Amino acid sequence: MAKVGGLADVAGALPKYQCQLGHDASLVMPMHRTPFLDTHDWDVIHKGKVFMGAHGFDYTIIRESTSVLGFSLFCIDIHGLLDRDKVYGYDDDPYRFLAFQLAAIDWFKTLDHLPDLIHVHDHHSALIPFLMKHVYENEKLREIKSVLTIHNAQYQGWMDPGFLHFIPHWDDWKTGLLLWEGQINALACGIKCADRVTTVSPNYMRELHDQAHGLSVLIREEFVKCKGILNGIDAVVWNPATDPMLNKNYDQLSVTEGKQKNKEFLCKEWNLDPTLPLIVFIGRLVDDKGADLLPGAISHFLETHPGAASFFILGNGQFNIEKSLEQLSHQWVGYYNSQIRYNETLSHQLYASADFLIMPSRVEPCGLNQMYALRYGTVPMICRTGGLADTVIDVGDQGGVGLCFDRPSVSDILHTFNRAIHLFADKPTMIRLQKNMMSINHSWEASCKEYIDLYLQIH
Ligand code: ADP
Repeated sequence: MAKVGGLADVAGALPKYQCQLGHDASLVMPMHRTPFLDTHDWDVIHKGKVFMGAHGFDYTIIRESTSVLGFSLFCIDIHGLLDRDKVYGYDDDPYRFLAFQLAAIDWFKTLDHLPDLIHVHDHHSALIPFLMKHVYENEKLREIKSVLTIHNAQYQGWMDPGFLHFIPHWDDWKTGLLLWEGQINALACGIKCADRVTTVSPNYMRELHDQAHGLSVLIREEFVKCKGILNGIDAVVWNPATDPMLNKNYDQLSVTEGKQKNKEFLCKEWNLDPTLPLIVFIGRLVDDKGADLLPGAISHFLETHPGAASFFILGNGQFNIEKSLEQLSHQWVGYYNSQIRYNETLSHQLYASADFLIMPSRVEPCGLNQMYALRYGTVPMICRTGGLADTVIDVGDQGGVGLCFDRPSVSDILHTFNRAIHLFADKPTMIRLQKNMMSINHSWEASCKEYIDLYLQIH
């Protein structure tokens, strides 16, 4: 329906796997104006009106009518506010997300059959536990348990205290739950009010304990109810044996030939040499992902090792990084290419074609790309941070499948590029690695069970 990064992958997979385990999980999200909206049929479920201060707005709940996703998808349409092309990035985002949460709560109150538990994700929905527990008019929802998952603690949903006027009456003694350093902080409020708090990997939870963009004191206070649960990947959508976006499907037995065929298609299209090791980056072009280090590292490597490898970058984000990465394609014709945009199909083709996937992240709460890379037999090259450290072991260690480094720096990346070309030259090891990577199971079943256990603890 809509995707910016990993949160969408989780929101699309977790309810599906929960339903497969026999639970009744549904997803509620804003109705963004995306192509999915036009290519699917919808039923109108409910219409209502909520007030933000003196201003009232109408909302409509629609449900995807076929349940093709494996769970019920409900979208909240608030005309002019939520039905926009982008998921976020607007000046009135705090207002939009608050409106979404108030409408969701208003609708829940009309349900004959209330949910046992509401699982909210990131700051965009993190006020919901407070709204259910402490707002007088939401008495009916008081007993519903809540879990908050933090996908990235950097984005906290700060709001001007003036926004307090948009929240219906609550017990004044509880106002401190909404505030952090004199402002409304939706994420902090969620951490205080949810019955359980999770992050998307155990290592990221440990990191937040020590440094959480101003919230580590709070995380430490609430640590007994916190847990890191590693994301899974949707092994049906991300399956090289059946993936309809690939030029050639392959499995564990045919991985080496299959990847080479995909690489040949890709290299032909993007003017690269299919005999060289192909190193790719896929992701948001932001400092957190270490994307700012790539132009320097790639140029330096190609200058000092002419013709030793080719590179492809797929991503968009910060303007300065986009420009530097785009410029490299003029400088290193035949050895480097890039697509500065979001392209789901190309991302699948890259996971299938590449020999290596570089992730020099400074911050990576879980990271899905390294798991997709493993599933497609592509060696992940990762900086040991957050969930990357939980999921990739260095080839030099027992059971290792990746190339790991400790600092998000140009010199560590260069050292790792060097290791990559030596590994690529060692064909028997490469073939063994490809098969080993593809036998790793990072699918949702295990993580999904961990979430269910957590729900049961508080139910
Ligand atoms: P984050 O949520 O921080 O962006 P994750 O690793 O958790 O990072 O998830 C990133 C997801 O977004 C992956 O599915 C990745 O393939 C996808 N992705 C990121 N940028 C692009 C892009 N430019 N084109 C296609 N897919 C992308």
